[in-house]
Amino acid sequence: MDQQQDREVQDRQFLQEALRLAREGQAAGSSPVGAVLVDAQGQVVARGRNRTGEPFGPDHVGHASVSHAEMDVFFQAGKLKDPETLTLYTSLEPCLMCGGASALLQLGRLVWATDDPWGGSGRLIRWEDHPAMQTTRVTPTPYPDLEHEGAALFATEAKRAFPEEGWSLWRKRYPQETEGV
Ligand SMILES: [Zn+2]
Repeated sequence: MDQQQDREVQDRQFLQEALRLAREGQAAGSSPVGAVLVDAQGQVVARGRNRTGEPFGPDHVGHASVSHAEMDVFFQAGKLKDPETLTLYTSLEPCLMCGGASALLQLGRLVWATDDPWGGSGRLIRWEDHPAMQTTRVTPTPYPDLEHEGAALFATEAKRAFPEEGWSLWRKRYPQETEGV
């Protein structure tokens, strides 16, 4: 396989892992969002998931509205070495806080399975124009099947947590996945 194919295989594998972590979060009483930070050799630096519905512990941020999957990853990873060589994979488009943190840390790449048309930072930050976003290349929703899986997984949470305006955006963006939720 050439380098491009290698990267595509890796992207798919780690997005699937982020989705697996998202389901783990849901089963634990938190929101269904997962994230994996990976180095240039394809080694996992840290795995994280949303922990808003769980206690704060010595190993994980928790029990706070900001205990998002990406923050769990960042607090576990601590000081990053060569952040521009790292890729963060998430099951859902990062929010303004987590997208901002990714940029602040100067991660090389950010890949997400599913758009978040209400809570996602892409709606508020024009990534390519933002002066602090220039290091981080963004790859949204590269695989339709994983995008579908992530949208179906988060749909219940989107309906519960977002105001009517947000849920309307979700229904418009993902009509099939939000049907009957
Ligand atoms: Zn977030």
